[in-house]
Amino acid sequence: MSKKKKVRVAFRKNRQTRTRSNDLTRRFEGGEVRGADPVSAERVRAKGALSRHRTVMQEVDDQSTESGSADDPMASMAVDLSECLSGRVLRVHGLESVVQAEDGRRYRCGVRRVLKNLAIDGRNVVAVGDRIWFRPSGEDQGVIEKVEPRFGSVTRGYRHREHVIVANVDQLLIVSAFAEPELKLPLIDRYLISAEKGEVQPIIVLNKADLVDLAAYQWVFGLYAQLGYEVIPCSASSGLGIDRLREVLGQGTTALSGQSGVGKSSLLNVVQPGLNLKVGEVSSWTRKGKHTTTYAELLRLEQGGYVVDTPGLRQFELWDVEPWELEQYFIEFRAYIPHCKFPDCSHIHESDCAVKDALSRDQIFDCRYESYLKLYLQQPIEGE
Ligand code: GDP
Ligand code: ZN
Repeated sequence: MSKKKKVRVAFRKNRQTRTRSNDLTRRFEGGEVRGADPVSAERVRAKGALSRHRTVMQEVDDQSTESGSADDPMASMAVDLSECLSGRVLRVHGLESVVQAEDGRRYRCGVRRVLKNLAIDGRNVVAVGDRIWFRPSGEDQGVIEKVEPRFGSVTRGYRHREHVIVANVDQLLIVSAFAEPELKLPLIDRYLISAEKGEVQPIIVLNKADLVDLAAYQWVFGLYAQLGYEVIPCSASSGLGIDRLREVLGQGTTALSGQSGVGKSSLLNVVQPGLNLKVGEVSSWTRKGKHTTTYAELLRLEQGGYVVDTPGLRQFELWDVEPWELEQYFIEFRAYIPHCKFPDCSHIHESDCAVKDALSRDQIFDCRYESYLKLYLQQPIEGE
């Protein structure tokens, strides 16, 4: 027997409405430098992946009528949470998750069947970083009953759907090195776009400061500071910048990104020596396959805050950013775009282009325009 019922389904990605806040322009025009005041850096974020759904009528058989809406899977069901504990998902292995309760205890949790039914392929029911409610059973086991709505997810495209790598991420640390491997600004710009798109606060960390003369890089700090991004020069070897890094990591949940060999593991090991993350060999920069971390895992720092460092994040793509959308993520272009002659100006070959005019007057940095070109033309960036 079957009957009709309302179900909530995810929009295909090309039907998603843009939910990003447009505070970037304001921030840029206001000359505000991020990070100087963590409170003013607080941003409005999209509700995230789980909110992008629509309601459709679907044939269902009688047995599966218990599933609710994906916005709040429990909304249509009475769930008694009085015997449940709240916790955070640290790791996911298939349908089993390692959950840490408020008191720090860890539980292996399965997922309530009705939640499983909401997943298309079982991958996204519970994601690392999810805040959940679970019913403990026995010493260290439990069943996840409810997943809180997500925000600030870091995602990647997976079979034309959005796959959540880590949920509830507050900030993205974009880690690069001054040298070994060489500094690649287009790569930083690309990560910045991913962060802005994911509505996650980006912070740029430039490591291996001990290998260069910092004075030669003042313009890089100036460039990103002008755009409103905090830049932290660091050295895992000399200890430069580690105090600021520790402070930043103490705030909420931070995802680390950046190519292999820039020193992500080394930095985390200096921030918290007990973490004992594996540090790669110098010779492995060029080997794409070097991944000491094989699955996403949330690490709780002793000083507070969570970090997550995964291969998925290291390479996470600009999924769903079309070339013509790029201009909005280059926030310094925005003031000029309305003055281009053609409303669909790509700022590449058109005449009377206000962006190119600004470039020729040095009001836009050459390297940012070059990044824009590379990304627009979908040219590979070495080191990705
Ligand atoms: P990851 O792949 O980003 O996690 O990078 P690793 O932490 O594995 O570091 C890669 C290599 O860079 C290792 O040989 C580290 O010893 C070295 N390294 C990391 N941080 C620094 C630094 O601040 N200065 C110098 N000179 N070398 C560093
Ligand atoms: Zn133009």
